[in-house]
Amino acid sequence: MQAGVWATRARMIGAAVLCAMLAVPAIPAGAISRADRDLEQQLRQHIEVLASDAFDGRKPGTDGEARTLRYLARQWFDIGLVSGTNDPGNEWFAPVNIVAREPAQGSAQFTRRGQRMLVAPGDVLVLTSGKRSMVRNAPLLFVGKARRQDFSRTELAGRVAVVLDGDTPDSARQNDLLTQGASAVLTVLDGPRTLEDVVRKRRRAGYALSEDSLGGDLEAFIGRATMETLLKGTGQTLASLEDAAAQVDFTPIVLDVNATLEATTHETTIRTHNLIGKLPGRNRQAGAVLFVAHWDHFGECGQAPAAEVICHGAVDNASGVAALTEVARRLSRGPQMDRDVYFLATTAEELGLLGAHAFADNPPLPPERIVAAFNIDSVAIAPAGTPIAIVGRGLTGLDKDITRVARQNGFRMAQDGDAQDYVKRQDGWALLQHDIPTVMVTTAYGDMGRMRAFFAGPYHKPADDLAQPMELGGAADDVRLLTALGRWFADTRAVPVAAKSARKSTVPR
Ligand SMILES: [Zn+2]
Repeated sequence: MQAGVWATRARMIGAAVLCAMLAVPAIPAGAISRADRDLEQQLRQHIEVLASDAFDGRKPGTDGEARTLRYLARQWFDIGLVSGTNDPGNEWFAPVNIVAREPAQGSAQFTRRGQRMLVAPGDVLVLTSGKRSMVRNAPLLFVGKARRQDFSRTELAGRVAVVLDGDTPDSARQNDLLTQGASAVLTVLDGPRTLEDVVRKRRRAGYALSEDSLGGDLEAFIGRATMETLLKGTGQTLASLEDAAAQVDFTPIVLDVNATLEATTHETTIRTHNLIGKLPGRNRQAGAVLFVAHWDHFGECGQAPAAEVICHGAVDNASGVAALTEVARRLSRGPQMDRDVYFLATTAEELGLLGAHAFADNPPLPPERIVAAFNIDSVAIAPAGTPIAIVGRGLTGLDKDITRVARQNGFRMAQDGDAQDYVKRQDGWALLQHDIPTVMVTTAYGDMGRMRAFFAGPYHKPADDLAQPMELGGAADDVRLLTALGRWFADTRAVPVAAKSARKSTVPR
């Protein structure tokens, strides 16, 4: 698979060089209005290619990636973009290396006063965020619900903190205990969550950029019944511990049980790429505008024996990269802008916004010079004329200018309170963490009823394919508005200042 990607990449660069030698005819100005009438059709054509069977669900590191990047790079090259990596060794395609970690083995042994206690291997799940972690013969310390509770390091050090999962599982509590010094955390699944739920979640969440540190956190999960067995003869029962934890003056209780926990993970590396193109501006010192859409999807995501297991991601996010490409086409026409405009098709959004993080970790320009960034994700939702939402409203200094440009161009702004619930679920959130002022400006979240219906329906399922009726009127509106916003923010008279004053400094993390 890897070799396929690299071989194809070499062919793509070959094609790019060949194209550079052929003059690309400029589009006559008179054709623009007609082309805009055809915008929905153009978007549909891109989506039909990117969500076709041949692209196999656009999974990072596969032939589906190679085909996707070849298609997009060819489009962008023909439009007139240049490589935006600013790295002569990696034109157009910025490498992103991802480590996939899957739980390999875990074991738990419990003793009381030197006596081994019998626990079946499947009854305790032990997981680590690192390669291999172990804690040997550590006492259990029952910390109750550990909500908004401060522990002293000496209290937790060398001990396994036993926490109640409760009705609303929240991994922040476990993480807090580990950062406060616990050797490991043992979560008693006393609420709705089961061991199978935890296994399923962890299998999906085990991706990270290869540069990120591994950590070696050790976490274990245990069901109610097994915990009861462990407590036998200690003078405690789970019910008595739960009662104690409910008291206002609760203090942690040392249990007469020691644990030896060990876990290992199996690692594989995925070599994948962000695609970065650029329209060079007149004034290289004036900063830049950035447009973003993730190209990746899951590959397979359906469960056998279902007839269809490939997830083609037509709406999520073939529609977004289609819109990104058509914004690039429109901005490439007309007079050269003052600022550079970057176009970024990210990888591994579905694995945890990893491509966007990689871009910000290793940016082609100092990130503080990005005046405004616009993410485009799953835009084939609403019909033409739907009001415009700003996802990330209030988190940047961009809202006022966006509203002004939208109104000037005849768009209505939505009352988008609910849309903010989704701000953390898109690449813009990763960029915000790196202080790049990023929003989604879109009709898709301007009609939350339709967006919710998508999330409850085909989203992240094989049904997000070309067979579903695809509404592209709103997506075409998005392209028109984003093009206007690109021109506005790339204009040093309209937006004279550098990014610093156009952003707020306090983004919630
Ligand atoms: Zn998605």
